[in-house]
Amino acid sequence: MFGRLDDGQKRPTGIGLRSQLKWKTAMKIFQNFINGAFVDPENGEWLDTKNPYTGQAWARIPRSTGKDADVAVCAARTAMTTGPFARMSATERGRLLRNLADIIEREGPRLAEVEVRDNGKLLAEMGGQLKYIPEFWNYYAGLADKIEGTVVPIDKPNHFAFTRREPMGVVAALTAWNSPLMFVAWKAAPALAAGCSVVIKPSEFASASTLEFAKLTVEAGFPPGVFNVIAGFGDEAGAALVEHPDVAKLTFTGSDTTGARIYATAAKKLKRVSLELGGKSPNIVFSDANLDAAASGVVSGIFAATGQTCIAGSRLLVQNSIKDAFVKKLLKLARAAKIGDPIESDTNIGPVTTPAQYRKVLDYIDVALAEGAKLVIGGKPATGPGVQGNQFIEPTIFTQVTSNMRIAQEEVFGPVLSVIGFDDEEDAIHIANDVIYGLAAGVWTQNIGRAVRMSDALKVGTVWVNTYRAVSYMMPFGGTKMSGIGRENGIEAISEFLETKAVWVNTSDEFPANPFVMR
Ligand code: NAD
Repeated sequence: MFGRLDDGQKRPTGIGLRSQLKWKTAMKIFQNFINGAFVDPENGEWLDTKNPYTGQAWARIPRSTGKDADVAVCAARTAMTTGPFARMSATERGRLLRNLADIIEREGPRLAEVEVRDNGKLLAEMGGQLKYIPEFWNYYAGLADKIEGTVVPIDKPNHFAFTRREPMGVVAALTAWNSPLMFVAWKAAPALAAGCSVVIKPSEFASASTLEFAKLTVEAGFPPGVFNVIAGFGDEAGAALVEHPDVAKLTFTGSDTTGARIYATAAKKLKRVSLELGGKSPNIVFSDANLDAAASGVVSGIFAATGQTCIAGSRLLVQNSIKDAFVKKLLKLARAAKIGDPIESDTNIGPVTTPAQYRKVLDYIDVALAEGAKLVIGGKPATGPGVQGNQFIEPTIFTQVTSNMRIAQEEVFGPVLSVIGFDDEEDAIHIANDVIYGLAAGVWTQNIGRAVRMSDALKVGTVWVNTYRAVSYMMPFGGTKMSGIGRENGIEAISEFLETKAVWVNTSDEFPANPFVMR
């Protein structure tokens, strides 16, 4: 997927590279956004970025190196220490975020198209997402000037003691390919509201929308260096950001393997880290549920976004007494799903975003079959009208899955549902919690007591009762166990970018009689 330039040769670095590219190809060329300007990568190397629907490259993004990361971090550090952003009042900071929210609202349809082209998400979903993303920016715009310390009624005589909450420093945000613009909002909005500057490194598979988005920050009035984006590989540009001594905070969305690696590297310098990782979330359906609503929720949980969401409800835990009847409902919905061009408004299931992910999903289907799971629908590449580019997989359901199987334990990140039967509440709780992940769970029941008991017992960051996939700027989001560390969204997300400083003021003229004894 990642080519050098047209003839496969590395070009010499230098001015004019972009114009050579424009002349040679009709492909769109994206540049890094550093210190308020669009710039070429210092080594002059670029990567193709493909449209998952056609399988064809449609644009090029920089293959940034440690040098680009260094320039971006230096710009970000200067912006938040000596630049105008550092001197701004919190209310003025909030105003910038609000300006940006308005511009995103205006530019939403265009940004949605860029994202659809780059990662194959449905335009129907992206249209809704882009209408909602400004609310995240507005929410943190409002919070910017409500970051308050406290006056502590201190127990020591003649002391006035208070706390201040200060921006942590330069934030590096590393994001996954499945919802790049949403992740920018989740990470950059609270970070900027807190007074931090940011450098974003989007996924090498879907950087275009974030680079396009960067333009909007100029119109919104953000001073140079406050918001930066560099594109490139994770183990090159990404790793350089993780290791950079002037990055104080890392906020990451991606796989647990990469998250653990980043966490280990960050630990060497005791950097602050937030991780939003994978999941193997259960949708738990009791016999007393509204079964039509539950079936719709289960389908939305696993087949929407082609199952490429961290919150995918990839395990259906269904009470044995209704299992067969419930699976029949799912089959009906899955059969009716229209697979095809993500840009068409009536498409339900789009392509898998990357060739590697496509192969991974097919491999997991083989694993499930080898483990003895029963395939009841799908299980193979989708073909037919409107299907191009060899990256489509039919919605797939396995029954007769047991909790110890790999298909019940490991994240597939595709349209593959594992159905596991359970007898009673205790059994359901045991199976639900019997995974290394703890991102989310759905509970479908009409019994309010059971709903509350289940929400107590599930070891996850989010429990949805009689709904699934609801997220909001107001509601904390994040995982337990291997699903991550920290929370995004809601009031508490801003704390992920703040340090608390304790200030002690001696109000008397006295000094300690014995300076060798702690007071
Ligand atoms: P990934 O871990 O491969 O990459 C995520 C980001 O990290 C990319 O920008 C990548 O370039 C970068 N990266 C990779 N190696 C790096 C390194 N050594 N140092 C620094 N940066 C590095 O994940 P992905 O394949 O892009 O995304 C899929 C995964 O993301 C899935 O596991 C999914 O569950 C998870 N995800 C989690 C959430 C959540 O909020 N919990 C949301 C969406 C996706």
